[in-house]
Parts: sequence; structure tokens; C-alpha cells
Amino acid sequence: MTETAAVPTALLRARAEIDLGALRANVRTLRARVGDLAVMAVVKADGYGHGAVRCARAAVEAGATWLGTATPEEALALRAAGLTQRALCWLWVPGGPWRQAIEADIDVSLSGMWALREVTEAARAAGRTARVQLKADTGLGRNGCQPGADWAELVAAALRAEAEGLVRVTGLWSHFACADEPGHPSIAAQLTRFREMVAYAEGQGVRPEVRHIANSPATLTLPETHFDLVRPGIAMYGLSPSPEIGTPADFGLRPVMTLSASLALVKRVPGEHGVSYGHHYVTPGPTTLGLVPLGYGDGIPRHASGAGPVLVDGKWRTVAGRVAMDQFVVDLGGDEPPVGSRAVLFGPGEGGEPTAEDWAAACGTIGYEIVTRIGSRVPRVYVNEEERG
Ligand SMILES: *Cc1c(COP(=O)(O)O)cnc(C)c1O
Repeated sequence: MTETAAVPTALLRARAEIDLGALRANVRTLRARVGDLAVMAVVKADGYGHGAVRCARAAVEAGATWLGTATPEEALALRAAGLTQRALCWLWVPGGPWRQAIEADIDVSLSGMWALREVTEAARAAGRTARVQLKADTGLGRNGCQPGADWAELVAAALRAEAEGLVRVTGLWSHFACADEPGHPSIAAQLTRFREMVAYAEGQGVRPEVRHIANSPATLTLPETHFDLVRPGIAMYGLSPSPEIGTPADFGLRPVMTLSASLALVKRVPGEHGVSYGHHYVTPGPTTLGLVPLGYGDGIPRHASGAGPVLVDGKWRTVAGRVAMDQFVVDLGGDEPPVGSRAVLFGPGEGGEPTAEDWAAACGTIGYEIVTRIGSRVPRVYVNEEERG
């Protein structure tokens, strides 16, 4: 294994190990599901907390040909790091860096007339054709252009801008609301609406390079949604979109992030000893406590208080009392592992450690949030950076 450590002493406290070999294998597994279709590796929010640039590079090595981000700044950062693949960013506000995106050959998503106006102005100023993808709201009720008159107006205006050489409409796309809930009636309804909106735009003369709507759950379970390209995020990082559709192993996926810390203290305490702020945990009898130097300042949810599982010295322990900003405590039940022993919060689960899904269940959230919120104070350590064999 190759390791890159930016701040060695920080690693003594805690680390998020990112297995790029697992990420590449996950991308290959996803590609095998979609045949010849293109895969857009979604690396928004710093690659769901895993590091956008490293993950984008690994995904490209494994055959992803597109990169997807939410904000334009995230896409520009990929370009600054030397990634030249097709890239799409979809979350714009007025005054955004349209011109920089055009000059960096980044596809920009348009959900309404205001965005088309801004991008055509920027294209004119840059003297270049902007690559734009029209986003349809097929039922998510979030970003995207409403069907009917709004869509007709956006399509017509985009075609006029295309005729002037200011834009090229490279994509027609949308996003699901409930693809992770098998059989949810909105899935079929959104798919029908998407087909109608694509057919309308193509009937008017739009010739997109790609049409796409599939996120991870749709990529994994709904082949009829794949069109020309799929946009997996969470599956690439080895997590299942929801326990309802299966475990990562059910889909041949392996979690990429392992979060661990060194015990900062191990000590004996008597019974009836209050633990952490508010004394929400009181030792049931004489025991030993282990201090884990991670807290909500590192992205450990405070909702994990009294609930989050941790593997210490071969046994699952539970967060005792409240998670504080920088630390939490586990009751070691009388065991005395040496101070400095590794406490593993989550990982692939193959070494008996909990998974991000276990943390999600303990905190009443989803695996996405558990990995994405791990903060910048936790150094990322990249393993299996090099392709072997
Ligand atoms: C986040 C996101 C994705 C990826 O979603 P996953 O469920 O993580 O696969 C795809 N498309 C859009 C528009 C997104 O915002």
C-alpha cells in the first residue's frame, strides 16, 4: 500500500483512510452494469468528503468519462488540478462564474431563462460557444425548468442562442426524487415526463450529446432510466443509497472511507460516575473509559450521543454520553487496551468494524451525511493510489 500523509502528527489523532483501489473497483462495477453508456463520476462536496480531485482522478482511471459537481467553483477546481474530462456543474446563482466556466470548457446546467440570459452574455463576451445542458424538473420539485410553457420558452430561447453560435445544447437532463424507494409511483411518473420533455426538445431541433436522469439508486436498480449516461455519487464511494434497496455488498460495492482515531486516554472509574456534558451517561459500576479524540468539530454528529458504535480492541462499544466538539467517551467495560489503541468508527466492515450505514442508523440519518460531513480537521490518507498489476 502507498500512503501520502500531509500532516504526519495530525495522523496520530485521527485519520480518514480513503481506499482509491476500492473506488476504482466500484466505478468498474458500475460501468459493468451500464454497458457502453457513459459514467459521470459525481464529486461534489469534496467528493462526498473523500477528496474531490483524488477521487475524480481515480474514477477517470477506472473509465468514468464525465465529472459532475454541484457548484461551478467545484468544477473549476477540477480543471485547476489538471482534469480535462467533460464536466457538468448544476447549481448556479445570478452573477456566477459563467465566463470562467465557458473558458474552462465546462458544461453548465440551465434551469430557467435567467441562467440562459447570463450564459449567453458571458459567451458573447468570451467570444466562445458555451456548452449548456437544459435541466427539466420532471417532478423532484427542486432545481430544473417546469414542463409546459416554461420548458417551451427555455427550449426556444436556447435554440435561438444556438443559431447565433452562443451556446451549444449538449444535454437534456433531470433528477429523481424517490429512486431509492423501490416501486415508488413517482419514479414511473418522472420517467414518462422526462421522455415527453426530451421528445419535445428534440422535436424542436435540440440535438443533445447526452440525455440523463439516473443517480446511484437508479443506476443500480432501474436500467430503463439509464439513457446515454448515468450519474452515480454515493455508490462510487461504496455506500448503498438506502438500506431498503440493499447493502453495498449486494451490489458488489466496497466502502471507500475508514474513519479511525487513537485513544487519547484509558482510565479506571468507579460506578455512578457521570460521563461528558450533561451527565447523560452514568457508569453502571466500576469500569474503564476510553477517550476518542473526535467530536462534532470533526463532523461526528452530536446525534450519535449515546448511540454511535466504535470498534476498540476487537469489541463494539457505544458512545457514552454526549459527543462534544472535539472528543467523546466509550465505556470499555473493564477492558484496558493501551492508550493510543485504534478506535475504528466506521469502514468497510470487513475487519468487524461498524459501517457508515451503522452510524446513519444510530443517528437517524443517511450514509451520505455521515461521510460527507467529516471535516477538514481530519486528515485524509490515500491508500492504493497507484493502479497495480
Ligand atoms: C448528488 C447528485 C447525484 C448523485 O447522487 P447519488 O444518489 O449520490 O448517486 C446525481 N445527480 C445530481 C443532480 C445530484 O445532485
